[in-house]
Amino acid sequence: MALCKHCHKPIVGKRLYHELCKTEARRQWAKRRNGTKKPRWNGWTAYGLPQPEEELVFHPTRKWRLDWGWPAWKLGVEQDGGLFIRGRHSRGAGRLGDYEKARAAIVLGWRVGRFSPQEIRAGSAAMWV
Ligand SMILES: [Zn+2]
Repeated sequence: MALCKHCHKPIVGKRLYHELCKTEARRQWAKRRNGTKKPRWNGWTAYGLPQPEEELVFHPTRKWRLDWGWPAWKLGVEQDGGLFIRGRHSRGAGRLGDYEKARAAIVLGWRVGRFSPQEIRAGSAAMWV
């Protein structure tokens, strides 16, 4: 009798995971990878700006986040990751979600600038703010 690598409960056969646990374990890996993948650029204050909130939730009911946002000014910056490596933003479903989010932000009075990571690091986004 083997134990599932995820929940450590007995598992039948030579498998390492229960089917559900495998899905869950995968999700956790992805999450962890995303968490570590983004050592975010954080040079806003070097441009004389107040420190923005990261992963700012701007909508009262939806879970949309802005990569950076200054609630006092209702100003946000979105980093468009993966312009060249088909990231989430360039895939169909992700893109539709992005459009919806962008419209919702406008309705709520937010101005959101979208920048490439290169532009953000070069300070273009900070100048725009
Ligand atoms: Zn399990």
